[in-house]
Amino acid sequence: MSSLASLAGKQPGYDAANLPVDIARAVILRAVEQADSPSRHQHEHIALTDALDRILACDILSPIDVPANDNSAMDGYALRSADLPAGQPTVLREVGVSLAGRPFQGTVEAGECVRIMTGAVMPAGTDTVVIRELVQVDAKNIAIPAGQSVGANRRRAGDDLARGSPALPAGTRIGAAQWGLIASLGLAQVDVRPPLRVAVFSTGDELRDAGQGMREGAQFDSNRYSLRGLLSRLGCTASDLGIVPDEAGAIEATLRNAAAGHKVIITSGGVSEGDADLTAPMMRQLGEVLQWKLAMRPGRPFAFGKIASQDQSAWLFGLPGNPVAAMIAFIQFVRPAILALTGQVDDALPAFAARVTTAMRKRPGRTEFARGRLAMTDTGIQVTPADNQGSSVLRSMSTANCLIVLEHARGDVNAGETVMVQALAGLV
Ligand code: AMP
Ligand code: MG
Repeated sequence: MSSLASLAGKQPGYDAANLPVDIARAVILRAVEQADSPSRHQHEHIALTDALDRILACDILSPIDVPANDNSAMDGYALRSADLPAGQPTVLREVGVSLAGRPFQGTVEAGECVRIMTGAVMPAGTDTVVIRELVQVDAKNIAIPAGQSVGANRRRAGDDLARGSPALPAGTRIGAAQWGLIASLGLAQVDVRPPLRVAVFSTGDELRDAGQGMREGAQFDSNRYSLRGLLSRLGCTASDLGIVPDEAGAIEATLRNAAAGHKVIITSGGVSEGDADLTAPMMRQLGEVLQWKLAMRPGRPFAFGKIASQDQSAWLFGLPGNPVAAMIAFIQFVRPAILALTGQVDDALPAFAARVTTAMRKRPGRTEFARGRLAMTDTGIQVTPADNQGSSVLRSMSTANCLIVLEHARGDVNAGETVMVQALAGLV
C-alpha cells in the first residue's frame, strides 16, 4: 500500500467512496505537513517595493522605537505637570511652538508651555499636553483649567513598538497593512521565501479558451482563470499550462512536465467516473494518488496525491470540472495545503454565525457550501443564499461575499435559523 493510502487509512472514519470534508482536509494537511517543504527554508533578499504578497522568511524585529520620540497625540499645549497646582487652574506663558517634523529647540522652564501639534516631539522638560479646546488664550498667556492628568495626550517613544521587539513573524504574507508596517520601520529590504511554484491546467475536449471561437458543444474554460486568481492571493507563482484534451498521452505529458518544475499541480475536470475521465487513472500511474468521492456539495469527485518526474515530485490536486465546485474545493482543501506548504502563519478563514433569510434544502450526510451575501441589520448579521446554487453557475460565486457552510449532519434549514458562514473577503 502506498504511504499516502496508509496515512489516509489511519484517519478515523476514512472512506474514499464517501469522504467527509473534515477528514479529507485532515488527510491532506497531515500529508503535506509530514513532507519537508524546502521553500520553507530558503530566503530571497528583495527590495520592499517588490514585496507585496510575498511571505516573510524571518521574523522582523523593530530596528527603531515606534514612535521614535515622545510626541503629542493632540493639538494643544505641552507643559510640565509639576506646574499644575492640585485641583486649581493656572496660567502658563507660551514660549514657542513644536510642529510635526520641526521640534521646539529649547527647554521648557517652570511657568512655561509650548504650543504643540499632533505628532510633534514633546519639548524637553514637558510631560503633559492639554488640548487646545480646553485652554483660554490671551496673547502669550495660556489659562489651563483645573483637573488635568499627568502624562495626558502624550505618546511615549516605543509605545507602538519598542526597538528590538517583534513586529512580524516569519510566515506572514505581506498584505497592505504589513507592507506599510515594514516601511514604517524604515526597512527598504526584506527576506522572503521563494514563491511556491504551482502549475494549473484544465482538462476537457469541450474546452475553448477565451478569444477562441465558440463551437457546437463547446464550453469556455473559466477554471484556469478563477484558480489562478485564487492562487495569486496566496503568494504563489502560477504557471498556466493551458487546456489539455481528454487524451491519455496529452495528460501524461502535461503532468510529467508540470511535476518537473513545480511543487504543486492543480488540474480541473476529468476526476469523476465518466468515460472520458482519464485524468485520475493517469495520475495514479505517475505516483501515489488517492481518488475520492467527497461527502460534499458542490464538488464530489476529488483527487489528491503526489506524482514524480525526473527526480522531482509535486503535490497534485485534481479538482472537479464544474466552475463553482472547482473554486470551493480549492478554498476548502488546496488553500490550507498551500498555507502549510509555504509555512504561512495561521490564516484560517474568518467564520461566524449569521441568520439565514430563506429556507434551504439540505440533505444530512454531506457538507454543503452555498453562496451567500452577508448584510448587517438592526438585529444582527443576516445572510441571503444566492438564487441559483448550481455548481456550474459561476455568477453566484461572483456575487457572493461568503460561503454558507451547512454541516455534515444537518438537515433542512428554516428561514431565521443560524448558520455558519465563511467570509470570502480577500480570497476571491
Ligand atoms: P468534468 O469534471 O470533467 O466531468 O466536468 C464537469 C463539468 O464542468 C462539465 O460540464 C464541464 O464542461 C465543466 N468544466 C470542466 N472543466 C471546466 C473548465 N475548465 N471551465 C469551465 N467549465 C468546465
Ligand atoms: Mg471533463
